[in-house]
Amino acid sequence: MSARAQIGVTGLAVMGRNLARNFARHGYTVAVHNRSYAKTESLIADHGGDGDFVPSESTADFVASIERPRKIVIMVKAGDPTDAVIDELIPHLEEGDVVIDGGNAHFPDTIRREHKLAELGLHFVGMGVSGGEEGALNGPSIMPGGPKESYTTLGPILEDISAKVDGTPCCTWVGPDGAGHFVKMVHNGIEYADMQLIAEAYDLLKHGLGESAAGIGKIFEQWNAGDLESFLIEITADVLQHVDAATGKAFVDIVLDQAEQKGTGRWTVQNALDLGVPITGIAEATFARALSGSVPQREAARGVLPGDAGTWQIEDRDAFVEDVRLALYASKLVAYSQGFDQIAAASAEYGWGVDRGAMARIWRGGCIIRAKFLNRITEAYERDENLPLLIADPYFADVVGKGLAAWRRIVAQAALNGVPTPAFASSLSYYDGVRADRLPAALIQAQRDFFGAHTYRRVDREGTFHTEWSGDR
Ligand code: NAP
Repeated sequence: MSARAQIGVTGLAVMGRNLARNFARHGYTVAVHNRSYAKTESLIADHGGDGDFVPSESTADFVASIERPRKIVIMVKAGDPTDAVIDELIPHLEEGDVVIDGGNAHFPDTIRREHKLAELGLHFVGMGVSGGEEGALNGPSIMPGGPKESYTTLGPILEDISAKVDGTPCCTWVGPDGAGHFVKMVHNGIEYADMQLIAEAYDLLKHGLGESAAGIGKIFEQWNAGDLESFLIEITADVLQHVDAATGKAFVDIVLDQAEQKGTGRWTVQNALDLGVPITGIAEATFARALSGSVPQREAARGVLPGDAGTWQIEDRDAFVEDVRLALYASKLVAYSQGFDQIAAASAEYGWGVDRGAMARIWRGGCIIRAKFLNRITEAYERDENLPLLIADPYFADVVGKGLAAWRRIVAQAALNGVPTPAFASSLSYYDGVRADRLPAALIQAQRDFFGAHTYRRVDREGTFHTEWSGDR
């Protein structure tokens, strides 16, 4: 077998297949391989015309068909399958070869794998890929980590196949070892928050206006022409106007209201707890999915727990719609701000040096959270690369400030009318908490000192203090 492929892809389910086709369409000769040969055959049969593919049945032939130093993208089910594929590749690899994991790996696994392969003289790149199957084929947002030197040869190929916005590739080197997969994880966490916020906006419009799904879809269509312009708002407009062919009902009304998850949201929240970063929007979005799937609890509550729901009194329909839009935008900014805080905290903890402005830039196209306002985030980090709080950037502080009254009205009305808005409400609480001159945390410190001699610091003196509380009871 002559080594003529410039890149290899192993794992040819929906993502790997489309990524391989994307490479081929950009003129690269692509070695392709899958555990079961049928998927390789089907790729060649269905899409062989996309470009120059080199199919192999065995791992040995697959590796041998790739030019050195080899670049091999693994696109298999995350977890043990990734380790199994790496172990199968290792005996056939040579020093300097680059193994790229494009699956949704948990970043501690990526750190472990990178260290293991480094000891063997191999490069390991944990690469976040967003955009689903459509993105993989037509241009995803790509977040590669791993050794920086591997990006010298790998980067241009990845940038070539990535989405482009204003001619700029949605791909850049993120940082060492697990940085790429970490940033992809937070991207997915933000995606959870964004989707939950959109769902809450829909629910408010539904209950507040008694509007049909299609009517709300039209509102989302209008929103997509403004500051909220984004992939998720755009598809929401389409989904809400979609009619179920079997029943003729609005599609959203025939879907069971239990949201599932694969784990990246959970990982994001678990990591935030470890780092002590309040990502309340993402956490509430993750728990909201869990609540939707808490079937026995929901059944136990239905018809038993009183609601005391008031009646909506909306005098001005357009004003209400605008309030919901402003509340959505403000809550969304909080969720992004929190996600970027988490990236900053992890970057400091693991020594990654992640450039947050560059992350916003590569999320502008190709990925699920692609949105017009990400430009503004990049600009904010260009103004101050150490910005401690995204929503405190003058541009965003102004946007949130202008929407504040609407945000408060919406959260208050939702509470009065018994409509759950966990992400809207927690984002507003975060906003009020982070801007407060003084928090009731002072009382918590005092309580901790009372029952556990945990000590406290004072506002008027340096040092750590403990009070003898015994005489107080
Ligand atoms: P998938 O359903 O997650 O995985 C199926 C692929 O994994 C098949 O090629 C399968 O081979 C292979 N595989 C499973 N166990 C294996 C093992 N023990 N050894 C070797 N190969 C094994 O595929 P996918 O949806 O295309 O996703 C691929 C990766 O991309 C995943 O990590 C996923 O999380 C990530 N991702 C997916 C999306 C998306 O929108 N779907 C978006 C971004 C990232 P066989 O054909 O032989 O069974």
